[in-house]
Amino acid sequence: MPKKVIIIGAGIGGLATANLLAKAGYDVHVYEKNAQLGGRAGQRTTNGFTFDTGPSWYLMPKVFEQYFSLFNVDLNHELGIKKLTPAYKVFFESHEPMTIHGDVDKDAVQFEAVEKGSGERLKTYVKEGQEIYDMAIEHFLYTNFERPQELADKRILAAGGRMAKLLLTNIHSRVSTFVTAKPLQQILEYPMVFLGTSPFKAPAMYSLMSALDFNEGVFYPARGMYSIIDALVGIGKAHGVTYHVNAPVTSITHADGTASGIVVGGASIAGDIIVSNADLHFTETALLNASARSYPDTFWKKKESGISALLLYIGVKGALPQLEHHNLFFVDKWRENFEAIYESKEVPESASLYVSRTSATDPTTAPEGHENLFVLAPLPSGISLNDTDTKVLTQRFLKQVADAISEPELTDRIVTLETFGPDDFKDSYNSWNGTALGMSHLLKQSAFWRIPNKSKKLKNLYYVGATTVPGIGLPMCLIGAELTYKRIVGIKKGGPVTSIETPEGETK
Ligand SMILES: Cc1cc2nc3c(=O)[nH]c(=O)nc-3n(C[C@H](O)[C@H](O)[C@H](O)COP(=O)(O)OP(=O)(O)OC[C@H]3O[C@@H](n4cnc5c(N)ncnc54)[C@H](O)[C@@H]3O)c2cc1C
Repeated sequence: MPKKVIIIGAGIGGLATANLLAKAGYDVHVYEKNAQLGGRAGQRTTNGFTFDTGPSWYLMPKVFEQYFSLFNVDLNHELGIKKLTPAYKVFFESHEPMTIHGDVDKDAVQFEAVEKGSGERLKTYVKEGQEIYDMAIEHFLYTNFERPQELADKRILAAGGRMAKLLLTNIHSRVSTFVTAKPLQQILEYPMVFLGTSPFKAPAMYSLMSALDFNEGVFYPARGMYSIIDALVGIGKAHGVTYHVNAPVTSITHADGTASGIVVGGASIAGDIIVSNADLHFTETALLNASARSYPDTFWKKKESGISALLLYIGVKGALPQLEHHNLFFVDKWRENFEAIYESKEVPESASLYVSRTSATDPTTAPEGHENLFVLAPLPSGISLNDTDTKVLTQRFLKQVADAISEPELTDRIVTLETFGPDDFKDSYNSWNGTALGMSHLLKQSAFWRIPNKSKKLKNLYYVGATTVPGIGLPMCLIGAELTYKRIVGIKKGGPVTSIETPEGETK
């Protein structure tokens, strides 16, 4: 009999782990509390509009390619992955908009036009970011840090002094040594929001993010981000994964230091291996009783749960050619905005926003003659918004976009508008403090310091997803699935999984 694996949660991390284990011969069952598979990477349809619920930036394409190649799937071909040109557009309150191409030579020309000498400095910044990124891929992301000797690699030791500086300085300080014009600093600092943190707190090693958008570029699947989830589920079904939806797990059962199964709808279901893809704080504090928790309450008090957000899913009549596919709106009160979100935990007066117009690339996401807009406004975690708060904020953010793109009629042209806020993150995904992304990537919550993917108390309980290693984002969760797989099958060596042994005759 194959060993039975129970996976709690069908986010990308849970789905990706299910596939690896199913291909390796395990009997895999995924239990998801919601009706839809995909978790934060979900899809919603309203009045003829189709929205990706969360992720919209397809970055680090090689990570996707590597994962899907394990199943002989050419993802680029299957999902029609294409590079977005331009990559994104940035609107400022006190500066003309800038269009970023995702090609450092072209973008350097634009930087130069804003600040003399900054074009060459951008190239250096991106080149150094690429070196850090390459090192991260080779030594820090695809590892469970089970073999410390791997960190004694010549290249890491040689880079030791520089790395220490990059860990101990914040990214704003580093960016300031390359460019002084505020719009340019904002462009290089904004990616920290993708990591759930602030440029005034994130370690400078995350300058590697600029290698992603300026060197590799920004990509998009022809049929939207949810097609990645469809592809994962397609592989899972082909390898015998069983999916149970509308199945909220209420506890993980255990005896003698071993997880024995889960409870769903009052029924006990036995399993040999349990993997939780639910938010780690929820898994630890709500699914396990005190004796099986790896971390005491005091541990969580020292952790930062990460930002929340207000999301707007909007259908607009008529065209909005002022917008590209990805658009960023930066406020002049840049530092104050981050401080409100991360320090004083207040809803900011004005907020730097992200707006995607998917209908720019995929017209099927909106009825003919309409545009599909998704707005993300970062908010502090731990807050609750009532209907009035949500309406006030929605109007404020819509006005901000309308002013920036000189479209005073924007609100009147809206034909559908739905919101998703901090309370929804909590209710829909059991996320800690209503965080949108998961624990922020502060230094103390990154790399070896991020919560590992294995319980300290139950020998067969594992974790996967944005709240454990390596962290937030679709590519990170795919890497995380490989890490959890390696833990379970006992591969200690760092580096991507190269092949999955499908047992013949014999099963796990
Ligand atoms: C608004 C937004 C924008 C983003 N933008 C990007 C982007 O552009 N690019 C990018 O790469 N990443 C982006 N991200 C991050 C990325 O979407 C996440 O890091 C990733 O999807 C998290 O996946 P996960 O595996 O951690 O699982 P989640 O998606 O967090 O899923 C966990 C699942 O567990 C389920 N669950 C919880 N409790 C239970 C229970 N008791 N029983 C059963 N099931 C349970 C939940 O319902 C959920 O389906 C974005 C995220 C958000 C929210």
